[in-house]
Amino acid sequence: MLKKILTILPIILLLSCQSNAQKNNTDVKIQKTDIQWKNELSSIEYYVLRESGTERAFTGTYNKFYKDGLYHCNGCDTPLFKSKHKFDSGTGWPSFDTAIKENVSYDSDINIGYTRTEIHCTTCGGHLGHVFNDGPKETTGKRYCVNSVSLIFYPTE
Ligand SMILES: [Zn+2]
Repeated sequence: MLKKILTILPIILLLSCQSNAQKNNTDVKIQKTDIQWKNELSSIEYYVLRESGTERAFTGTYNKFYKDGLYHCNGCDTPLFKSKHKFDSGTGWPSFDTAIKENVSYDSDINIGYTRTEIHCTTCGGHLGHVFNDGPKETTGKRYCVNSVSLIFYPTE
Protein backbone atom coordinates (compact mmCIF):
# COMPACT_ATOMS: atom_id res chain seq x y z
CA MET A 1 0.00 0.00 0.00
CA LEU A 2 2.74 2.44 1.04
CA LYS A 3 4.67 1.60 -2.08
CA LYS A 4 1.62 2.39 -4.17
CA ILE A 5 1.17 5.79 -2.49
CA LEU A 6 4.84 6.59 -2.99
CA THR A 7 4.48 5.80 -6.68
CA ILE A 8 1.38 7.95 -7.09
CA LEU A 9 2.60 10.91 -5.02
CA PRO A 10 5.15 12.30 -7.49
CA ILE A 11 2.53 12.15 -10.24
CA ILE A 12 0.05 14.15 -8.14
CA LEU A 13 2.74 16.72 -7.30
CA LEU A 14 3.70 16.98 -10.93
CA LEU A 15 0.10 17.52 -12.01
CA SER A 16 -0.53 20.17 -9.37
CA CYS A 17 2.62 22.07 -10.42
CA GLN A 18 1.54 21.97 -14.02
CA SER A 19 -1.91 23.33 -13.32
CA ASN A 20 -0.38 26.24 -11.40
CA ALA A 21 1.98 27.07 -14.23
CA GLN A 22 -0.84 26.97 -16.74
CA LYS A 23 -3.00 29.20 -14.59
CA ASN A 24 -0.26 31.83 -14.36
CA ASN A 25 0.37 31.77 -18.06
CA THR A 26 -3.19 32.06 -19.28
CA ASP A 27 -4.46 34.63 -16.77
CA VAL A 28 -2.28 37.50 -17.96
CA LYS A 29 -2.89 39.65 -21.05
CA ILE A 30 0.76 40.32 -21.82
CA GLN A 31 2.77 37.13 -22.30
CA LYS A 32 6.46 37.12 -23.15
CA THR A 33 9.18 34.51 -23.04
CA ASP A 34 11.88 34.65 -20.37
CA ILE A 35 14.35 35.73 -23.05
CA GLN A 36 12.12 38.63 -24.10
CA TRP A 37 11.75 39.77 -20.49
CA LYS A 38 15.51 39.45 -19.91
CA ASN A 39 16.18 41.68 -22.91
CA GLU A 40 13.75 44.36 -21.74
CA LEU A 41 14.51 44.46 -18.01
CA SER A 42 17.65 45.11 -16.00
CA SER A 43 18.91 42.15 -13.94
CA ILE A 44 17.38 43.43 -10.66
CA GLU A 45 14.08 44.21 -12.44
CA TYR A 46 14.02 40.70 -13.91
CA TYR A 47 14.89 39.15 -10.53
CA VAL A 48 12.01 40.95 -8.76
CA LEU A 49 9.32 41.09 -11.46
CA ARG A 50 9.83 37.69 -13.09
CA GLU A 51 11.46 35.63 -10.31
CA SER A 52 9.50 37.07 -7.35
CA GLY A 53 12.68 38.43 -5.77
CA THR A 54 12.89 41.27 -3.26
CA GLU A 55 15.11 44.36 -3.49
CA ARG A 56 17.15 45.19 -0.37
CA ALA A 57 15.25 47.37 2.12
CA PHE A 58 15.98 51.12 2.05
CA THR A 59 17.70 50.88 -1.36
CA GLY A 60 14.76 51.54 -3.71
CA THR A 61 14.22 54.81 -5.61
CA TYR A 62 10.68 55.23 -4.31
CA ASN A 63 11.16 54.36 -0.64
CA LYS A 64 11.28 58.00 0.60
CA PHE A 65 9.58 59.59 -2.39
CA TYR A 66 6.37 61.59 -2.08
CA LYS A 67 5.62 63.40 -5.33
CA ASP A 68 2.10 63.59 -6.77
CA GLY A 69 1.40 61.14 -9.54
CA LEU A 70 0.86 57.54 -10.51
CA TYR A 71 3.00 54.44 -10.09
CA HIS A 72 2.84 52.13 -13.09
CA CYS A 73 4.09 48.57 -13.59
CA ASN A 74 7.74 48.65 -14.68
CA GLY A 75 7.12 45.58 -16.84
CA CYS A 76 4.08 46.67 -18.86
CA ASP A 77 3.15 50.26 -17.87
CA THR A 78 -0.22 49.43 -16.29
CA PRO A 79 -1.18 51.97 -13.55
CA LEU A 80 -1.04 50.22 -10.14
CA PHE A 81 -0.88 52.74 -7.28
CA LYS A 82 -1.73 56.41 -6.66
CA SER A 83 0.62 58.72 -4.75
CA LYS A 84 -2.21 59.82 -2.43
CA HIS A 85 -2.31 56.24 -1.07
CA LYS A 86 1.43 56.11 -0.30
CA PHE A 87 2.64 56.31 3.28
CA ASP A 88 5.90 55.92 5.19
CA SER A 89 5.76 52.47 6.81
CA GLY A 90 9.37 52.63 8.01
CA THR A 91 10.00 49.18 6.49
CA GLY A 92 12.36 50.39 3.76
CA TRP A 93 9.98 49.64 0.89
CA PRO A 94 7.40 51.88 -0.79
CA SER A 95 4.08 51.28 0.97
CA PHE A 96 0.50 51.99 -0.08
CA ASP A 97 -2.80 51.46 1.73
CA THR A 98 -4.78 50.94 -1.51
CA ALA A 99 -4.07 49.57 -5.00
CA ILE A 100 -5.85 50.36 -8.26
CA LYS A 101 -8.27 47.50 -7.81
CA GLU A 102 -8.59 45.71 -11.13
CA ASN A 103 -4.88 46.06 -11.97
CA VAL A 104 -3.43 44.21 -8.97
CA SER A 105 -3.95 40.46 -8.35
CA TYR A 106 -3.40 38.33 -5.28
CA ASP A 107 -1.85 34.93 -4.64
CA SER A 108 -0.78 32.88 -1.64
CA ASP A 109 2.97 32.66 -1.14
CA ILE A 110 4.36 30.02 1.23
CA ASN A 111 8.02 30.39 0.18
CA ILE A 112 9.31 31.45 3.60
CA GLY A 113 7.38 28.89 5.63
CA TYR A 114 4.21 30.84 6.45
CA THR A 115 1.51 32.15 4.17
CA ARG A 116 1.77 35.68 2.84
CA THR A 117 -0.36 37.32 0.17
CA GLU A 118 1.71 38.05 -2.89
CA ILE A 119 0.65 40.90 -5.17
CA HIS A 120 1.29 41.02 -8.88
CA CYS A 121 0.37 43.04 -11.93
CA THR A 122 -2.84 41.67 -13.47
CA THR A 123 -1.73 42.62 -16.99
CA CYS A 124 1.74 41.00 -17.20
CA GLY A 125 1.88 38.87 -14.03
CA GLY A 126 4.95 40.76 -12.78
CA HIS A 127 5.70 40.33 -9.04
CA LEU A 128 5.20 43.56 -7.08
CA GLY A 129 5.59 42.54 -3.42
CA HIS A 130 3.17 41.49 -0.66
CA VAL A 131 0.14 42.91 1.15
CA PHE A 132 -0.18 42.79 4.94
CA ASN A 133 -2.92 43.69 7.42
CA ASP A 134 -0.80 46.08 9.52
CA GLY A 135 -1.39 49.25 7.49
CA PRO A 136 -2.85 52.56 8.72
CA LYS A 137 -5.99 51.84 10.78
CA GLU A 138 -7.50 55.25 9.94
CA THR A 139 -7.72 54.26 6.25
CA THR A 140 -7.81 50.65 4.98
CA GLY A 141 -5.60 48.83 7.49
CA LYS A 142 -3.67 47.36 4.53
CA ARG A 143 0.02 47.72 3.77
CA TYR A 144 0.95 47.04 0.17
CA CYS A 145 4.70 46.51 0.45
CA VAL A 146 6.08 47.06 -3.04
CA ASN A 147 9.53 46.85 -4.61
CA SER A 148 10.68 50.14 -6.19
CA VAL A 149 12.08 48.29 -9.20
CA SER A 150 8.60 46.90 -9.96
CA LEU A 151 7.35 50.46 -10.39
CA ILE A 152 7.80 53.46 -12.65
CA PHE A 153 6.53 56.86 -11.52
CA TYR A 154 4.66 59.40 -13.64
CA PRO A 155 4.23 62.85 -12.05
CA THR A 156 0.86 64.60 -12.27
CA GLU A 157 1.03 67.30 -14.95
ZN1 LIG B 1 2.67 44.63 -15.53
